[in-house]
Amino acid sequence: MSETLNPYEIAKKQIETAADKLRLDSHIVEILKKPMRVLSVSFPVKMDDGTIRVFEGYRSQHNDAIGPTKGGIRFHPNVTLDEVKALSMWMSFKCGVVGLPYGGAKGGVICDPRNLSPGELERISRGFIEAIAQIIGPDKDIPAPDVYTNSQVMGWMMDTFSRLNKSFSPGVITGKPLILGGSKGRTEATARGCVITIREAMKELGRPLQDATVAIQGFGNVGRITAKLLSVLGCKIVSISDSKGAVLDPDGLDITKVERLKDQGSILDYDSDYQIDPQELLELDVDILVPAALENSITVENADRIKARIVAEAANGPITPDADQILAVNKTRVIPDILANAGGVTVSYFEWVQNLMNYYWSEEEVNVKLSEVMVRSFHAVNQAANKYETDLRTAAYMISLQRIVDAMKARGWV
Ligand code: GLU
Repeated sequence: MSETLNPYEIAKKQIETAADKLRLDSHIVEILKKPMRVLSVSFPVKMDDGTIRVFEGYRSQHNDAIGPTKGGIRFHPNVTLDEVKALSMWMSFKCGVVGLPYGGAKGGVICDPRNLSPGELERISRGFIEAIAQIIGPDKDIPAPDVYTNSQVMGWMMDTFSRLNKSFSPGVITGKPLILGGSKGRTEATARGCVITIREAMKELGRPLQDATVAIQGFGNVGRITAKLLSVLGCKIVSISDSKGAVLDPDGLDITKVERLKDQGSILDYDSDYQIDPQELLELDVDILVPAALENSITVENADRIKARIVAEAANGPITPDADQILAVNKTRVIPDILANAGGVTVSYFEWVQNLMNYYWSEEEVNVKLSEVMVRSFHAVNQAANKYETDLRTAAYMISLQRIVDAMKARGWV
């Protein structure tokens, strides 16, 4: 069986599935299947060896019916326009499902930060923001971190935008360093939100978190902090992978040790007897599987071999629609990305609110507010899934589609 792995095609299919259930008019679906604005840029950057390289990037803004658009900027060698478009669509639905006053956007630059010096990374970050400056702004479109970008990159980008506009504009970007108006709790927010959805899903299934077994694909910001938070809750993290490979210990990995090894070089130094094929990680017989890497980890090729009871999509787009169907038949609970990883953009929203009022909250205040949003949203999605007899993804899309459609109607667009 062959299926499309093009994220843009996948995003369109997901919209169609939910729109069918809501019996939406086809012209509304047509609007939502295309981003409202896509900017494609190329910009020259001086490399450390004195040569000039031209980098390419994109910013896609999907729909701004509810408010300014919002979404991260990804630096990765495999970035494509279709990927960025899909990611911007997923951001609209992510903001919709947790009820944030934003539409969705996403940016991407084709580059590999693993092979760039800090100076080169800084010049690429500044060059990209300059190239898209005309379409972003605190009340237009607000970027944030994503794969291989972090608070330092956000700091450079905010600085460039503020200089171009000759005014200090912290609200143009979120995920900034604390000293530049970043929010307490933002770095951990995506993982924290994901863990809350896992906790609620386990409660629903009547299963304890204590000693629940977990496999985590990806050890970037989200995978790493999810591992830590779940182990604090008593879960046993049996397997972890990163882009170089995977480690397994059926008795539970020592997360502090994995973190130390990652910082020093590679998680594969854990113990050579403990290495497994990263593909095998996905198929382990665990209670909870957390794909926290990139798109298309679970496809028709391996969906039938997934044994986890719960799959929490910490990454964006790790499961294809055909794989979704197989998982549903096998009674695997999938907590969809637009819900499972919405904690990041939720605290980005809190950061933006704090920037606009110039008044900053304690970490506890941020975490309490995040928890309220995640618990409420999880149960709203779960109830909709029960009511419409569908899976959590379709239910999550139905809730957010309805919000976007209501906003478009209220504005008189449709
Ligand atoms: N890149 C993150 C995401 O995919 C965060 C976006 C944001 O904070 O705006 O949800």
